[in-house]
Amino acid sequence: MFSLPTLALYPWLKDSKEWVRKEAPKLEELLKSPTYERARAIGHERLLNALERKDIGERSLSTEAEQIMELLSYPLARMIAVGTMDPSLSFRYALAEAKHASRLLMSEPLEFVLEMCKEFGLDIRLEGEKFKLHFTDWIKYAPTYDSRWKLVNNRVDGGYVVSWKRGIVRLLQEALTRRISNEIRLLAPPREVQRVFGKQIKEIKANYSRPEETLGKEGTGDFPPCIKKIISTVTSGMNVSHEARFALVTFLHAIGKSEPDILKHFSRAPDFDLEKTQYQVRHITGDISGTEYKPPSCQKLKTFGICPESEMDELCSQVRHPLTYYKRSQR
Ligand code: SF4
Repeated sequence: MFSLPTLALYPWLKDSKEWVRKEAPKLEELLKSPTYERARAIGHERLLNALERKDIGERSLSTEAEQIMELLSYPLARMIAVGTMDPSLSFRYALAEAKHASRLLMSEPLEFVLEMCKEFGLDIRLEGEKFKLHFTDWIKYAPTYDSRWKLVNNRVDGGYVVSWKRGIVRLLQEALTRRISNEIRLLAPPREVQRVFGKQIKEIKANYSRPEETLGKEGTGDFPPCIKKIISTVTSGMNVSHEARFALVTFLHAIGKSEPDILKHFSRAPDFDLEKTQYQVRHITGDISGTEYKPPSCQKLKTFGICPESEMDELCSQVRHPLTYYKRSQR
């Protein structure tokens, strides 16, 4: 098992979970006892930092007490994230934890990075200063938005991709983002968490969630009826056609929405699968395919039955494209 300082730095390790399982107090005590007030404060801080700075932040870990509080703050931060009931916030938190870990890993010895790869079951070995990772693991975790990660653009030796530490750490970041997001997705927040962190959860939702209906000009206020209709269908928990998904992603991308913002719209769909949706979004926005697809015209949307003709307004009669509608409605 790793030492306590390492578990505190990397609280998502299997060993860290094992430590928490054996050594942590019961949930009730963790949530209410004054002894763990510091752990609760760090848990909250972890999530706030993730949403504000895209990194969970660093704290002193020089004493055993500090290490224990840091380690316990991780499950608490996850509970608060789940308590927001907003998958987009949870995803942003997972990403920030993974980015923080990858920054720490860059200053660790190569042998330690190798250990971390084994944590994720990667088929990898270290030869001198370079890693050799089986090509199937490379494909599984390589960022898809950049052609530099494609197999053809890397040296492959006997089925193993040869990489420097930086490349392997980047893959670990992806593996960790997936691990944390998938784990969080399966968590149900204990009722007690809502009671203890109710005020913090409310504030986080108010400051960082952006439900369309409360966003005014930043939200769907200026969107054309067709796009509003798709969003309301998806957010009410109903499935929409492939063409409607395509129209929504291309529209949101064209007006400058970020990937998490686009994903958020799909998070309430009954068949929501983060990885799959993320892949589809990256394909449509050109990160994977190299082709940045444009939103379909009004004529195409009418052909697919996506234009809600009964909800068309005056502006609709003056435009031929949903993007033109959006631009004009902002004037
Ligand atoms: S006319 Fe065009 S912009 Fe208006 S709802 Fe139909 S497809 Fe959308």
